[in-house]
Amino acid sequence: MTEFQGQWIERDGTNVRPHASLVMNLSKPTADKPALLRLGEVETFLHEFGHSLHGMFANTRFESLSGTNVWWDFVELPSQFMENYAVEKEFLRTFAFHYQTGEPMPDELIDKIVASRNFNAASACLRQVSFGLLDMAYYTRREEFTSDIIPFEKQAWEKAIVGKQLPDTCMTVQFSHIMAGGYAAGYYSYKWAEVLDADAFSVFRRNGIFDRATAQSFRDNILSRGGTEHPMTLYKRFRGQEPTIDALLERNGIAVPPSHTR
Ligand SMILES: [Zn+2]
Repeated sequence: MTEFQGQWIERDGTNVRPHASLVMNLSKPTADKPALLRLGEVETFLHEFGHSLHGMFANTRFESLSGTNVWWDFVELPSQFMENYAVEKEFLRTFAFHYQTGEPMPDELIDKIVASRNFNAASACLRQVSFGLLDMAYYTRREEFTSDIIPFEKQAWEKAIVGKQLPDTCMTVQFSHIMAGGYAAGYYSYKWAEVLDADAFSVFRRNGIFDRATAQSFRDNILSRGGTEHPMTLYKRFRGQEPTIDALLERNGIAVPPSHTR
């Protein structure tokens, strides 16, 4: 998603609307098959569409605080939120039909997709958390670093390491995201955005993924507000409380949703 012009409100009240575009590389049709989208392509489309909704629904005074101009760890909420729809049966039933038979995508196939993506989800989660802890340990130091990085690294992510670390391995020396990639002290935002998007989507799962009132609240309290207030203030106005990790653990198949417990 690219925005060519943001949104803002002029002194005379004119609401200048944004210009955004969504450009994608999608699977091409072949001689005997139409263009059949891969799941990853659908997810990317939904992700970028979420960013564009953040821009298109913007309704703020200043362009610098409009749409996607929010804090770093909040910008992926609208986009990752939309990705949730990719494996929702109710959503897929609106368009995902077999190109030859016209049959809807079988529920068992969708269940398999969800099960396979949750394979090793707990390890993947701890891996992300360990990188976040390591990043934060470096960037919250106030003194010059003169000690050995190997024991420093071990101590920094100890809480999230369950397996034994292989000898002679060191993440720090290849952690280009935080050393050269602009993610310094912000690596945690990947996992944090997942917490937010799963928690926000849990409201839709409860009220219905196409529930108009819930969607309007998401739009009014979050999508239209840009960076005009603290992200947590905006989020709580939609959610009624701070996010918890419960919905993410349930989505990853790590925790059982309350309605399934006996
Ligand atoms: Zn994004």
